Amino acid sequence: MPAERAAHRNTELPLVQTLFLESTEMLALLTEATRLLHNGRPLALRVQALFTLLRNAIAYRDARLTCWFQSAQPGTVRQQFCAPDDWPYPWDDALMRQMALNGQLTCRLCVLDAPQENQVTLPAVQFAYLGAPIRWDGRLWGILELRADDLAIFDGIAQEIVAALLPQLAAVIAEEGVSQRQSERDAPVPFASAPTTALAARSSAAVARHQKHLLTALGHELEELLDLHKLLTLLLRWTLDATGAEAGAISLVDHERMELVVQVYEGYGVEPFATDLPHGLRHRWNWEVGLAGRVARSGRALLLRDVTQNPDVRPTASNLRAELAAPIKVNGRVLAVLVLDSPRSAAFGNEELAFVRALCERAAQPLRRAMTYQEVLETSTQLNQVFASLPIGLALLDMTGRVLRFNPAWSTTWGMLSPPHDSDLPFHVPLDLVDALLPRLPDPLRLTEFCATDQRTPDAVQQTTVQLINPLQELQVLSVPTHDSLGQHTGRLWAVSDVTREREVDRLKNEFVSIVSHELRTPLTSILGYTELLIARDFAPSDQKQFIKTVYDQATHLSQLVEDLLGVSRLDAGKVKLNRWVVALRQLIAELTNQLNAQLDRHRLLIRLADPLAPVYVDRDKVKQILFNLLTNAIKYSPNGGEIELVVQEADPTRVWLPPDHPPGHWLLVSVRDQGIGIAPEDLPRIWERFYRVDNTNTRRIGGTGLGLSITRGLVELHGGRIWVESEMGKGSVFTFSLPVATEVERKG
Ligand code: ADP
Repeated sequence: MPAERAAHRNTELPLVQTLFLESTEMLALLTEATRLLHNGRPLALRVQALFTLLRNAIAYRDARLTCWFQSAQPGTVRQQFCAPDDWPYPWDDALMRQMALNGQLTCRLCVLDAPQENQVTLPAVQFAYLGAPIRWDGRLWGILELRADDLAIFDGIAQEIVAALLPQLAAVIAEEGVSQRQSERDAPVPFASAPTTALAARSSAAVARHQKHLLTALGHELEELLDLHKLLTLLLRWTLDATGAEAGAISLVDHERMELVVQVYEGYGVEPFATDLPHGLRHRWNWEVGLAGRVARSGRALLLRDVTQNPDVRPTASNLRAELAAPIKVNGRVLAVLVLDSPRSAAFGNEELAFVRALCERAAQPLRRAMTYQEVLETSTQLNQVFASLPIGLALLDMTGRVLRFNPAWSTTWGMLSPPHDSDLPFHVPLDLVDALLPRLPDPLRLTEFCATDQRTPDAVQQTTVQLINPLQELQVLSVPTHDSLGQHTGRLWAVSDVTREREVDRLKNEFVSIVSHELRTPLTSILGYTELLIARDFAPSDQKQFIKTVYDQATHLSQLVEDLLGVSRLDAGKVKLNRWVVALRQLIAELTNQLNAQLDRHRLLIRLADPLAPVYVDRDKVKQILFNLLTNAIKYSPNGGEIELVVQEADPTRVWLPPDHPPGHWLLVSVRDQGIGIAPEDLPRIWERFYRVDNTNTRRIGGTGLGLSITRGLVELHGGRIWVESEMGKGSVFTFSLPVATEVERKG
């Protein structure tokens, strides 16, 4: 067919016709290839048939197919098939590795300088090489290689044919992999098939020559690699190929934890990496275990011809016999350990040991470089993550104030949805920043001045607070000079944090302290004043009694104040815990009214309880305190006497009103109604605030701390209920709160 194809080109057939003929040929070839590849015969026979078929289309000299069967468990198994011919020149595995790495079909001219095969020196030769990685679904399944006398043989059509065959080959290899895995399961052996590397079949002289060649070629390839995983994969594959080892692994040494961290491995079948690790984790071994650990500790390469004869060495996998391990070290420090395994006892000898040692020496510097690169990568990834996830807005500026990078919190902290000018970098601080914030900046000059100081004093750390309006925001800005590794000034790092809440909390705390001190000072002053008077002069007994009564009242007020303050702070700190029981309110109310009898001398207390009354699930003492606060307020703020009504009923959406935000469920409603002074509408929302007391002549006369209702509301809400008030000036007020009815379970428990 190649001759025919040449004929098409020479005769002056129209282009379309040529293309048509060629594509029909190709179609026929591919159909035939499909038939051959799926005829159910052993893979080796199918591949040989494919080679024969291919030769009809492409005048190649020889061909090789390398398959990587992806094992069900981590690790791969390799098998090679060569087209039957008598071309004596050895295949170059380095070229194959290149194909595997670059992942693309490649044609090139190669020269073999007088190679020696079976102790015969062959004439130097130049040949054309075509390598096609079989990639499918993001994975490398194998490599198809062809060699020919002339590069013209691998013209565009030849390449198209090969390319068209690749998906089919991937499918066949994948299918074979599945059936091999099946047989692995049926009869578990660690190695699905022993590789028949070209090397294994050669004479020792050829081996030595090949190994030397490999060392040089590998050295060159490793020099070019910075990616740690790629470098180790390449190193392992080369070593496996060159030594004929069936399996191998490379681990890095973690000196701190005295462990080996497996990085790459191949050919172990289902062992020893059977346990799936969570994503991103690697297998770790204590370096006290196994031959590799010994090598990591001693820094010397070791060879065991038969592991089973060494009871103190635990083999990497069962069924293993020969094991060879060599360190990869720099300046005497072991960076990694390379292990080779074989189920054949005495599979490795001194030759392999020397070769692997030499290989590891070659790999040492490239490995150190790749590890350093990896460390730099890790560090920069970590820093990027920190930069991106910090809740503080960060921006790195150069000397001119240009923003080199910023994190997501930068824009959100300034209250902007996107960076100034809605653009990507670069933007400038303060120019663009002030511009973007202008409508919200009451004092733009402050920010501009801050930046000017940055410029004037490049080595100073400075800090400011920026106020923003609509909404009100307070931002703390810290500007720190940055330097490069040589200590040269490079610009600044700005850190911006929103301190609005902290400032508000500070403000409230200060206000609280000043109110408390004021509240404490008032009764103390009168206690001190009256006692001083009593000490200084002799008063008539009736006056003395009056003074002592005042001192007593103020001391009681002080004690109540301290008590309430403690209550508020315990509620704030979340320290109030409920000790809940199933409680009948009827009995609790009876106890409470007995306590209040003395204060009720000028009022009439009417108690109306629904009958029957469901029990509630509450803390007895806290409910008593709630009711006590409300009833004493009702008494206090009805100075004219009058009627106080305590009503308890079940909340019923059809009859009894509940506030709209009330939680759902089964509730009892308790109301305390008085006919007192009432509360003005503007004061109604504020009476729950701490220290808030309605300020009028009536209330000034009536004592109080302004904390009772705040505590009462806190206690009701701890029970899950709500409290609310209705009031009319001069007519009276109704305070109502809800308590949870005990469920069946609570009643039984
Ligand atoms: P105080 O110790 O001042 O009573 P509270 O927190 O219990 O503090 O009440 C806050 C304010 O609410 C009171 O100062 C008073 O002005 C008003 N108030 C509370 N209960 C009543 C009521 N039943 N009638 C009229 N005003 C009331």
